[in-house]
Parts: sequence; structure tokens; C-alpha cells
Amino acid sequence: MSQNCCAPVDSNQKEAHLNEESCCTPVWVDKDQKLTTAQTNLCPTCGQKGKKVDSLTLKAMLDVSLLAVREVAYLFCRTADCPVVYFAADGLQVFTKDQIRVPVHQKEPDNDHVPVCYCFCHSPATIRAELLATGRSTAIEEIEARIKAGQCACDIRNPQGNCCLGNVSAVVKQFIAAIQVPA
Ligand SMILES: [Zn+2]
Repeated sequence: MSQNCCAPVDSNQKEAHLNEESCCTPVWVDKDQKLTTAQTNLCPTCGQKGKKVDSLTLKAMLDVSLLAVREVAYLFCRTADCPVVYFAADGLQVFTKDQIRVPVHQKEPDNDHVPVCYCFCHSPATIRAELLATGRSTAIEEIEARIKAGQCACDIRNPQGNCCLGNVSAVVKQFIAAIQVPA
């Protein structure tokens, strides 16, 4: 089960036909608009506030030429029904989920096989399976132990660019409530 939880196959295949021609083309929100220093930190597509990501995260995650990356800050959009994963702080450029190398948990919260933990390959499917089999989830304690052991690499493996523990915890809680596993 864990061997394929980090394989982006399902999501990429699903999205691929939508954007075959533009997979290597960054989306420019408005080519003619002059660059502005105003940084709203709001996603140009959904209007929600983004979270800054390190340029290393962006470069590791992009499935397009890194020539597209400019010397501006980039932010991560976590809105589930917004196709934008990263956008430039100046609002002039977005990268959508079909331009990212892995499926993004926040964009597909109901897809059981999209990883929640990108370093150690926990997905909603693996978390639910363990809960059903044993009545508890060891995902969080396992991740914490591996973080302490220096085995994680969230900045280059997780599209949000930082630790997954909050997301994993949310998935575990949601399943415990849904499955009604005794606490
Ligand atoms: Zn958005």
C-alpha cells in the first residue's frame, strides 16, 4: 500500500488531458500589465490569502522550465477548489496544479491516494486502513520520530513547503469522527 502512495499517477493522468499544450508554459495573469511592487498575498484566482513558500520549494515542485521563475516572492494557495498552487506575490503569474510534479493534498482533500505526508508516504488511504485495522493511527508519532531523526525533507517534497503534521492530524481526526473509532 505504501509503495505507491507517493506516485502522482492518478492525479496527473486525470489532469493531463486538460492541459497538454500548456504543461510547460507558465500562466501569466496579464502580460501587458506593468510589474508592480504591490504585494497583496492574495491568490489572483480565488482571492484567498496565500502562504509564502521558499523558492527552493517552488523550484523542486514545478513541472515546467524554471526559466519561468522570477525574482519575486511566491505563495502557496490552499483553497481546495482553486486550480492555482503557487502565485507570484505581485499577482501577475500563477502555476496551476497541472504544472506541479505531484498531486497536492490541499487541492484534492477527498482523493484517498494523494499523500498527506510527502516524506513518509502517508495518505488518507493508509491512515484509514490503519485506523480500521487497529483502531488507532500511529502516523503522527511515526512522523515526529522521523523528523527528530532528521529524515524529513518537507521543503522539497511537500508542495506547501513545510511540515505536514497539521494536515495529517486533521485527516486522522476527520476519520476518527467519521469511522467512530473509540478515542
Ligand atoms: Zn487560489
